[in-house]
Amino acid sequence: MGGKLIVLTGPSGVGKGTLLRSLLNRHQELYLSISATTRSPRATEVDGKDYYFVSRSEFEQMVQARELLEWAEYAGNYYGTPRPAVKERIDRGQWVILEIELEGARQVLKSFPDALSIFILPPSVDELERRIRGRGQDPEEAIAHRLQRAKTEIAAAGEFQIQIVNDDLETALLKIEEAIFGTNTADRNSEAED
Ligand code: ADP
Ligand code: 5GP
Repeated sequence: MGGKLIVLTGPSGVGKGTLLRSLLNRHQELYLSISATTRSPRATEVDGKDYYFVSRSEFEQMVQARELLEWAEYAGNYYGTPRPAVKERIDRGQWVILEIELEGARQVLKSFPDALSIFILPPSVDELERRIRGRGQDPEEAIAHRLQRAKTEIAAAGEFQIQIVNDDLETALLKIEEAIFGTNTADRNSEAED
C-alpha cells in the first residue's frame, strides 16, 4: 500500500510542535518532514533536526532547482518542504506529516487532493498570544507578525477536513490520533487485534 500525506497547519504558537513531538513519540512509523527555512534558529533548535537553516540565496537555489514540494514566505522568512525525502518515504509506503503554514498547505492540497488535512485552532486569540509570549523565543516584532497572520489563518480553518482545538493537550492529541488512525486501515485493525 502507498504512503499517505498528512498536512497539519494552524497559527504559530498554537502548539503544533508540542503535539507532534508527542505524536511521533507514540507512533514511530510516522515521519515528520524537516523543512528548510531562512529564519534564524531559536536557542533550542538544531540544524537538520528542527529545520535546515539556510541562507536566502541557498533557499532561492532550491526553488530554482524545483527541490521544494511547496514553499511560502512567512513573517519575513522563507519556509519550504524538501521534495526528495517526502517522495522517498511516500514511495516506501510510509506516512509523512507536513507541519506547514496556510499558503503552503493550500499548494500541497492542490497537488495531493487525497492528503489528510488537519487544522489546529487555539482556544482563543488571547490564549494564542499567551502561548507565543510564554514560549519566549520570538522577538517582539515577530510576535506582532505572527498574531496578525494568525487571524487570517484561523479564518481559513474551514478549508481543512478536520479542525481540532488545542485546549487540553492530551484531548487534542487523541483527536489527532483519531483523525489519522480512526478510519482504521486493515493493517491497523489487525495490529489492534494482536
Ligand atoms: P507551534 O509549533 O504551533 O508554533 P509550540 O508547540 O511551539 O507551537 O507551542 C507554543 C507554546 O504553547 C509552547 O510554550 C507550548 O508549551 C505551549 N502549549 C502547547 N500546547 C499547549 C496546551 N494545550 N496548553 C497550554 N500550552 C500549550
Ligand atoms: P516557526 O518560525 O514558528 O517555526 O514557523 C512559522 C510558520 O511556518 C509555522 O506556521 C510553520 O507551520 C510554518 N512552516 C514550517 N515549515 C514550513 C514549510 O516547509 N513550508 C511552509 N509553507 N510553512 C512552513
